[in-house]
Amino acid sequence: MNKYDRCLVVDSSGTPRAIISSIRAFTIKYKGNAHVVAEHPEAFGLVNKDLVIMKPSIIQVPSYVNGPFIKVPLTRQNVYRRDDFTCVYCNEKSKDLTLDHVHPKSKGGKDSWENLVTACKPCNQEKADLTLDELGREIPEPKRPHYLMLLKKTSYIAEEWKPYLLM
Ligand SMILES: [Zn+2]
Repeated sequence: MNKYDRCLVVDSSGTPRAIISSIRAFTIKYKGNAHVVAEHPEAFGLVNKDLVIMKPSIIQVPSYVNGPFIKVPLTRQNVYRRDDFTCVYCNEKSKDLTLDHVHPKSKGGKDSWENLVTACKPCNQEKADLTLDELGREIPEPKRPHYLMLLKKTSYIAEEWKPYLLM
């Protein structure tokens, strides 16, 4: 499978429900059971060269699927995974990762998805117990990830999936 062979399925509330093959997604759409929200920049290889069908990247199914909502547990590894094992301050993939409280613990910062980020050791030491304002830095707003984002088999997350997968 190449990276354009997967499609994110969201329900009518915009909640991500599954990651399926683009072909299956197209079949569901073809039967009239979904509409395409976004397409990959790649077409299916079809026998009829005159027919160009783009691979769907996101489809929306009309029903609201009231399934069990799997919450991603807040763990060190899951924070690292959400941040792609990359320091949010210097954007380096470090082997020496630490958890950093964006709003420092000593100043009332909490253990939460919104306040914990991945930092390499030097950056964490430099930041110490400064707030972002005091440090004079900005970082992307940390968010709670959807469990689909953390699935190991999902090695590629299309840019257009991110608004759905980070809540
Ligand atoms: Zn760093």
